[in-house]
Amino acid sequence: MASGWETVIGLETHVQLRTKSKMFCGCSTAFGAPPNTQVCPVCLGLPGALPVPNGEAIRLAVRAALALGCTVHPKSVLARKNYFYPDLPKGYQISQHDQPLATSGTLSFISPERGGVSAGIIRLHVEEDAGKSIHDRFPKATAVDLNRSGVPLIEIVSAPDLRSPAEARAYLLTLKQQLEYLGISDCDMEKGSLRVDANVSVRRAGATELNTRTEVKNINSFAFVEKALTVERDRQIAVVESGGAVMQQTMLYDSKENAVRPQRTKEESHDYRYFPEPDLPPLVLTPEFVAEQQSDLPELPSAKRDRFAAQYALSREHAAVLTASRAVAEYYESVVHAGAEAQAAANWVMTEALADAGDHQEQLRVPPAALAQIVALVKGGTLSHQAAKRVFAEVAAKGGDPRTVAEALGLVQVADTNVLAGWVSDVLGAHATEVARYRSGETKLMGFLLGQVMRASRGKADPKLAQRVLEEKLASAP
Ligand code: ZN
Ligand code: MN
Repeated sequence: MASGWETVIGLETHVQLRTKSKMFCGCSTAFGAPPNTQVCPVCLGLPGALPVPNGEAIRLAVRAALALGCTVHPKSVLARKNYFYPDLPKGYQISQHDQPLATSGTLSFISPERGGVSAGIIRLHVEEDAGKSIHDRFPKATAVDLNRSGVPLIEIVSAPDLRSPAEARAYLLTLKQQLEYLGISDCDMEKGSLRVDANVSVRRAGATELNTRTEVKNINSFAFVEKALTVERDRQIAVVESGGAVMQQTMLYDSKENAVRPQRTKEESHDYRYFPEPDLPPLVLTPEFVAEQQSDLPELPSAKRDRFAAQYALSREHAAVLTASRAVAEYYESVVHAGAEAQAAANWVMTEALADAGDHQEQLRVPPAALAQIVALVKGGTLSHQAAKRVFAEVAAKGGDPRTVAEALGLVQVADTNVLAGWVSDVLGAHATEVARYRSGETKLMGFLLGQVMRASRGKADPKLAQRVLEEKLASAP
């Protein structure tokens, strides 16, 4: 459908900042409280209530801006964005308009089509959230929950630099990863702590002009980003190919139908009548404060990925898996610092540890030192790989020292040549025919005989050592 066409997408991403209290009052931001229990005169918009900015929210916003390479302005202005909506009792949202907190940054990410690219970040500003209209709680009535009213947000506006729905998704996942690394948000779309609106237009491949765009809203999960934008792109292409023109309008995505519908037009014509918030002075940040936040930024995902690949001699793919989340990256490094060989540690973290975490609320249940010990037990021949997996599972579930756990489970490999020689003699005695065939040149019977030794030991024999003992006995005179 899209061949011969190029899609032009810009994203406006709202991210809830991880603060205990709201943007301009002391109310809690905890998710899931009963409706309208986390409210006060300020966030209810009662007359005469005065807002007081949340310093932690500003600090987190500055860190997000710096991590995106934005210029953080020493002075920015909080502004009223006026509009009427039932979930906005004040009749305005405190946001920023022509003097935002930060401007002109970039986000580098891997495009599925173009490889490494970077999207411009036009601006990043702070604002407060509105409340929430709930349409399915009471028949024929809409309820309003103001717990979310006044929750601190940043809005990150990208340039129209994204060229496909898949690319938009890649940008968003990279942004989410970066914000999670910074610890400024949990970026959970299902809880509404990350929300995205997309500006979408299409043009003939090779064209450079920007055509009329629509805004797609109501994309409420990462899984829907690509779907919603694909539906809207295809709709626009169909309109133009049938001789029509794309109208500038807001489209709402319906995930159940995988369709977009125009929002009722009377809600479209916005005149927000922005003006500086009279109850708040301009936001002034000292150069020292900004510099302190800059120097205090953690290592970001792409830098960590590059360092892992170089420092631990890992493939780009393995380095990417291990740095996908900051928690996993730090866990991996702890395992290595506890003495595990880097590639073996990577293999264990990427398989057993991540699988276990996936089943247990992302908890990495085996302590790094214990995993390093398991890796060492395999390397030293004390545990077979299979046995080590059982020890891992046991330590994950019940804790304990891996060596003790392995012994208690009877999994420690026998590497004592006297004991091994006993099992080998038993096997050779019991399989005289095979031994004779082996000695007359049928060397492929080694596999069978070794299997018998492993069986006689009930899996406990160190297979490498057992094979050596077996070869020695077979080579000596009958
Ligand atoms: Zn409040
Ligand atoms: Mn906004």
